[in-house]
Amino acid sequence: MCGIIGVENNENAAVLASAGLLTLQHRGEESAGITISGKEKMRTFKAMGLVSRIFNEEILLNKLPGTAAIGHVRYTTSSKSSLINAQPFQISCIHGNISVAHNGNITNFFEIKEMLLKKGAIFNHTSDTEILLHLIAMSKGSLTDIVANSVRKLEGAFSLVILKDRVLIGVRDNNGFRPLVLGKIGNSYVMSSESAAIEVIGGKYIRDISPGEIIVIENGQIKESFIYKKPKKQNTCIFEQVYFSRPDSIVFEQTVKEARVKMGEYLAQQMKGVKADIVMPVPDTGYFAALGFSRASGILFENGFMRNHYVGRSFIKPSQNLRNLTAMLKLRPIGEVVSGKEIVLIDDSIVRGTTSKRLINILKDAGAKKIHFALSCPTITDSCYYGIDTPSKEHLIAANNSVEKIRKYLDIDSLTFLNLENLVKACSFGNKKNDVFCTACFTGKYPTKISMNV
Ligand code: SF4
Repeated sequence: MCGIIGVENNENAAVLASAGLLTLQHRGEESAGITISGKEKMRTFKAMGLVSRIFNEEILLNKLPGTAAIGHVRYTTSSKSSLINAQPFQISCIHGNISVAHNGNITNFFEIKEMLLKKGAIFNHTSDTEILLHLIAMSKGSLTDIVANSVRKLEGAFSLVILKDRVLIGVRDNNGFRPLVLGKIGNSYVMSSESAAIEVIGGKYIRDISPGEIIVIENGQIKESFIYKKPKKQNTCIFEQVYFSRPDSIVFEQTVKEARVKMGEYLAQQMKGVKADIVMPVPDTGYFAALGFSRASGILFENGFMRNHYVGRSFIKPSQNLRNLTAMLKLRPIGEVVSGKEIVLIDDSIVRGTTSKRLINILKDAGAKKIHFALSCPTITDSCYYGIDTPSKEHLIAANNSVEKIRKYLDIDSLTFLNLENLVKACSFGNKKNDVFCTACFTGKYPTKISMNV
């Protein structure tokens, strides 16, 4: 998962891009980068780590002068986590300097890479995005033709922002797996993975970039907007609403928060008759679903976990021992809230089961009497190939165990997963066609051919 942003026609392009990236930080904490152009020669500044540590005043004001910028925050899904794979990728080719920032996974990456290698292409990165740069460099025609002809060859998930001189281009794959939205701030257009990043910098959300659309913007004007590949069916990732997107971002003209509240309401319906003293979320993603559950069931909402926001992902990696320490550092139960209580605990999902097990254990250690665990999505039984770092099938607890077996492993009083029908209803707000979502990680029904070397 990654976050992307593009800003054009603005003297503060780099500052706005970095503020947007800060808002998208939850979509990737491993590296961040900004490409700037429009005044001097195009340049890119990127580094490993958090946006706030990379982009200080000196870099933004003195090293990144320009009126058009694209930015990227990265969470590795398809390749090694290292500076060489940090984006945006800037190239110098027959068409001049071009820079690309990508969110998603190109599923025919290996086929295209092999074809390019046979033609003599040299690869510097291990990221799937690099093939797009080669395709662009080899294409002929206008800037729009070059981009359209290149992305027509790609399969899988790709929301892109592309920069050439003052021209900002946005592209969304024809399934619409990953989000990309358009907004405006004064005389400047902005594109971003999420509407919240546009609103934070003072802009207004206008609309989603449609699946299969290319939009070309220059000097505060939309020069072109067209469908380069007609979607057979929209397959937007439903997990964006369950987990990835910020609650204050807009999807289908409603906030993600509203979808999560509805998930909680439907969970309460599924668990009708459950008796508990309190309902509490696993922060932060369980918060609004727990609120919805509380409103629908009448069970008191309580915050029973204290979250430490300063524990980064990097701290998680070193060893299993440190993972246990990290779990406790990240979330600590509040004894007086949970002790002696029968609890409905709401989280977004169970992947491997190990994190849930640790959470439940620390709740029990804090004195919880009974735990009913409820998840705001169905069982995850299949891996994602569209830009999310889910483990392979053998590591997915629900792919290999029944719900009852998982309940026993977690050692809890009941375990409920929101069913798929209710999840789709919660995310489509009852006023849109229901079949616009990819739900492959719950069903194994992938909307595209999966041909990558997995
Ligand atoms: Fe989203 Fe799951 Fe589809 Fe991946 S497989 S795009 S996580 S719904």
